[in-house]
Amino acid sequence: MQELTHWINGEHVKGTSGRFADIYNPATGEIQARVPLATPDEMAAAVAKAAEAQVGWANTNPQRRARVMMKFGALINDHMDELAELVSREHGKTLPDGKGDVQRGLEVVEVCMGAPSLLKGEFTDDGGPGIDLYSMRQPLGVVAGITPFNFPAMIPLWKMAPALSCGNAMILKPSERVPSTALRLAELLKEAGLPDGVLQVVNGDKEAVDSILDNDTIQAVGFVGSTPIAQYIYGRAASNGKRAQCFGGAKNHMIIMPDADLDKAADALVGAGFGAAGERCMAISVAVPVGAETADALVERLVPRIEKLKVGPYTSENEVDYGPVITAAAKQRIEGLIDSGVQQGAKLVVDGRGFSLQGYEDGFFVGPSFFDNVTPDMDIYKEEIFGPVLSQVRAETYEDALKLTMDNPYGNGTAIFTADGDTARDFAHRVNVGMVGINFPIPVPLSYHTFGGWKKSAFGDLNQYGPDAFRFYTRTKTVTSRWFSGIKEGGEFNFKAMD
Ligand code: NAD
Repeated sequence: MQELTHWINGEHVKGTSGRFADIYNPATGEIQARVPLATPDEMAAAVAKAAEAQVGWANTNPQRRARVMMKFGALINDHMDELAELVSREHGKTLPDGKGDVQRGLEVVEVCMGAPSLLKGEFTDDGGPGIDLYSMRQPLGVVAGITPFNFPAMIPLWKMAPALSCGNAMILKPSERVPSTALRLAELLKEAGLPDGVLQVVNGDKEAVDSILDNDTIQAVGFVGSTPIAQYIYGRAASNGKRAQCFGGAKNHMIIMPDADLDKAADALVGAGFGAAGERCMAISVAVPVGAETADALVERLVPRIEKLKVGPYTSENEVDYGPVITAAAKQRIEGLIDSGVQQGAKLVVDGRGFSLQGYEDGFFVGPSFFDNVTPDMDIYKEEIFGPVLSQVRAETYEDALKLTMDNPYGNGTAIFTADGDTARDFAHRVNVGMVGINFPIPVPLSYHTFGGWKKSAFGDLNQYGPDAFRFYTRTKTVTSRWFSGIKEGGEFNFKAMD
């Protein structure tokens, strides 16, 4: 069986812990590789090497660092098919979706090609007599990225491209379920000219994460994953004096107004609810039609669309709509939540439990499920299911639908489908959610904006990628400078007011 490695100092390094995590092919249920889980000592050694390498990298001027990103972007493009296949093989998502995963990461690399302009400081000429002030953005040193299983290319790229462009070294701890893409990206970065040691991919589980959180050299932690872990990592990193931004789980609502184009809304719900088997933090998992007529008409349109969905392995290329979920445990959990929905009184209109695919009987496939008459007290509403399950909660009025969305503890994404500009505008203005779609179901902002949820979907300051990432991965130093050209005063004992 293939044994994966860490990536330390520009080369593959075998793990020494003797502990491994199994990597499955989710379509067949077979173990296809195993990945070493780092010890605290392995982590400490990787961090120490990164700290050495960071000094030279920080002293490399921003244009040269940006040129590494240019080359890296070109290499990602050249290897698009190979990277998408790596993503899909370990995650299970369809190949076109695997390409999307790589593409949305590549777009962040593209923004980082312009990093020098985002790293420019500020200057005040003559802030006082003969006094100039300037601020510069300097790298933090060694930073860490800890990433989830559901976007094996995109989220590591969201972390590494801005962090490295700013002159930091990075310890990347990818999900132990899908580590191969991150290892391949590290090889491509070396080929693009990144000096050895500046990016270290250290594989591991909680033990490796905890040794990141307690390491004094690491200055900042960027995390993406589930909410309980995000909250834990934020607390421990912050109490150790680190900068931390930790993005968590979601429960994304889509409001469908009576004046919406219901066919378009149904198409959007099916794509956003079941794409990638619902394993997206921006998946729509709750449909909220306003008014009984809208709800009934939506059900009529949704059911045939959901029943037509094709589920299968990524090797079927464009023939399937979505693939398996990540593990047997995830499948079991999702089906358990569907059971609970039935027991707690929701109407299971389409039942995806017990789905089996000929030739792939041991794969982790879950058929699509659709619940109507879901209420906020049910577990299927309260829990992030992270599977191909869409719940419909009926609302009587727009205000009820808005309140439901706002009372939900998560605040990652939301959408409204309507033909009325006033309603859309009111929704976008009032809703307490970080990313809003208007007639657009998965509003992941483009790479030159920023990505981040509110409430329990994110802990810490600033969003991911875009200008916020350049603030997160740098610190500001402000210099007040005076040259004694003709100013011949004595010592100054008061706090200087430059008026
Ligand atoms: P996860 O929280 O289980 O794992 C994320 C990372 O944390 C992994 O690298 C894992 O090794 C590590 N980890 C797991 N348990 C840990 C522990 N007890 N202590 C320390 N580290 C630990 O998440 P996942 O299942 O890989 O990913 C799915 C979750 O990620 C979903 O909740 C999804 O909504 C969320 N997500 C959020 C965003 C966002 O930007 N808000 C994006 C993608 C995914």
